[in-house]
Amino acid sequence: MSTIAAISTPNAAGGIGIVRLSGENAVTIAARCFRPLSGKDVNAMKGYTAAYGTVFDGQEELDDGVLLVYRAPHSYTGENTAEICCHGGLFIMQKVLRTVLSLGAEPAGPGEFTKRAYLNGKMDLSQAESVMNVISAQGAQALTAARNTLKGNVSKKINEITSSLIAAAAALAAWADYPDEDIPAVQTDALRETLVKNGKELDSLIKRYDAGRTVTQGVNTVICGKPNVGKSTLMNLLTGFDRSIVTSVAGTTRDVVEETVRVGSTVLRLADTAGLHETSDLVESIGVNIAKERIDSADLVLAVFDVSRELTEEDKELIETCRDKKCIAVINKTDLEHRMSLEEIKENIPCVVEISAKNGEATALLEEALMKLLGTEGLDFNQEILAGERQRDCCVKALENINEGISALDMGLTADAVNVSIDCAVEALLTLTGKKASEEIVSEVFRTFCVGK
Ligand code: GDP
Repeated sequence: MSTIAAISTPNAAGGIGIVRLSGENAVTIAARCFRPLSGKDVNAMKGYTAAYGTVFDGQEELDDGVLLVYRAPHSYTGENTAEICCHGGLFIMQKVLRTVLSLGAEPAGPGEFTKRAYLNGKMDLSQAESVMNVISAQGAQALTAARNTLKGNVSKKINEITSSLIAAAAALAAWADYPDEDIPAVQTDALRETLVKNGKELDSLIKRYDAGRTVTQGVNTVICGKPNVGKSTLMNLLTGFDRSIVTSVAGTTRDVVEETVRVGSTVLRLADTAGLHETSDLVESIGVNIAKERIDSADLVLAVFDVSRELTEEDKELIETCRDKKCIAVINKTDLEHRMSLEEIKENIPCVVEISAKNGEATALLEEALMKLLGTEGLDFNQEILAGERQRDCCVKALENINEGISALDMGLTADAVNVSIDCAVEALLTLTGKKASEEIVSEVFRTFCVGK
């Protein structure tokens, strides 16, 4: 494989900058542009050693710096690696990079160092994906989750599930293919149990990922309800300042106002939308269309109702729209006389919170309801947490196939039919860890990486 090079530190001036080389000729190329002050030969440097010296472009001195040498396979990429650390000026770094490129290195693509680590068996795809999560982590929990995935705890769990499924499929195939041999009949109950157990493991991985995402990235949330029920007041209460214009004239919140707020351990990306109601006013109706669209695309809906008024057709329409969504019915204005019957709401929206947004009595109750609904209660970031949507998709696919396998068993279908489902589940899990991933998938994973990582 060619020897690649890139500036591994950010594309900005800093105290120190690093140009990294990886590949068979990494040290040889470094030897051509780096002269240790001690006079020792760079090519003779052992792995995990450093030398202080000068970087040259031909005869021109570029900068003083330190050269670090790693020898294959004991490096991040598993290849010979050299890191030239010098002053972190953009111009200097570019000059050093150009020098090593002129001496035979090729420019590294996004994530190419990590891709090589994956291709050389230093880490699997699930670990490689967590590298970017470690870099982009913006809080302690996100960092804990990413570091644990990088250490391989997701890979370990997925490998356990995969092995268990492969063993089940092998036993089933042997029994089905050689009925005359002395192979013990596969116990349908035991097989079913194996499938159910692995299905549960995958289901909890998916749920934990979804819950974890709400903590680390926030939930795309929409506040909706007919005009004047208190959406803006609730929004302002949650955000802590007057972000939306609150008036007692119906229909004054025309634009979608967005804000990110933390409610307990949950981060909500909130949009307060124009009232959800039929209207002939053009500006208002554009707002209402936005509201309906946002309900469709939101991960969580806070549907607000005014308890001091009777339930109207608009409220009923909102209940209907929210029925299949992850939704909290916020019954507002509990400080006023109750005129609304809550039966219809409670029948259709299982999570109901009664508050007075105006008096500021919302957050504790909402916090509790959110944790329950989003599964963040007792979430432990030290447990296995998938590193991204791709991994989640693989788990969902595997789970669907396992469930199909269970149905096939229950319907008394042939062993072959059950095996096809198990094989598909195994395939999805091998794609997750990258043990069996196509070139397109691998490229896609590393496409979003930064150059130099
Ligand atoms: P929106 O149109 O749904 O955004 O409603 P607003 O937040 O603008 O509130 C409409 C009116 O109801 C305002 O006069 C608020 O002060 C009032 N309001 C909101 N929440 C409460 C509450 O919990 N109790 C009472 N009494 N009034 C409230």
